[in-house]
Amino acid sequence: MSDDDDTPETRMARLILALRSQGVTEPKVLHAVETTPRPLFTQALFKDRAFEDSALPIACGQTISQPFVVGLMTQALRIDRRDRVLEIGTGSGYQTTILSKVARLVYTVERYRTLMKEAEGRFKELGLTNVITRFGDGGEGWPEQAPFDRIMVTAAAPAEPKALLSQLKPTGILVAPIGKGPVQSLRRYAGDGKGGFQVEDLIDVRFVPLLDGVAKEL
Ligand code: SAH
Repeated sequence: MSDDDDTPETRMARLILALRSQGVTEPKVLHAVETTPRPLFTQALFKDRAFEDSALPIACGQTISQPFVVGLMTQALRIDRRDRVLEIGTGSGYQTTILSKVARLVYTVERYRTLMKEAEGRFKELGLTNVITRFGDGGEGWPEQAPFDRIMVTAAAPAEPKALLSQLKPTGILVAPIGKGPVQSLRRYAGDGKGGFQVEDLIDVRFVPLLDGVAKEL
């Protein structure tokens, strides 16, 4: 039987195995991935590839992240279910949905109105009640709601995201792809409680760039 003949359950089971074998082992993270229907977040053209462990195109020239990277970033944040999390780059809303299943509240910012609206529709369809969206420039964070327990940036920042780090609690954690080129380093900043950070490079990743300001096009 070819992969195409497999049921969504079989395909999802295979995806979960792929994540585990690459080091995503935290049960609550795997559970969040397993209970999130990725086809809902992909374009019609790519629905049959929704269970593949790869990034796929979405509207506005952006991408839905690779499930392994979504799992790894979520795991790297060491989220407690009481945590308030800020996500920069809502995109399809796939990563947001995974975060909403492990955190108390998720604040998410997107610079394309179209993507924001589509993602909001998905959150509604899934009945998520702990996601708060904002159309804006995520590079500035969300000062009115700061400080956050955790921050995840899902677009590549050219350098250390100082404004975002300043919106983190003293022992908070931020994960972001850092770099100017096509390949970036996924970096974790863990607050030491004294105003400093322990910085760790996790893996190489390929993200679309974090851009300044909101998009003029829809
Ligand atoms: N987490 C997303 C990945 C989306 S790709 C998912 O799971 O589908 C990165 C997203 O970051 C894109 O939608 C892009 O428009 C957005 N982005 C880039 N720069 C931004 C900024 N300054 N503020 C808010 N969003 C931004």
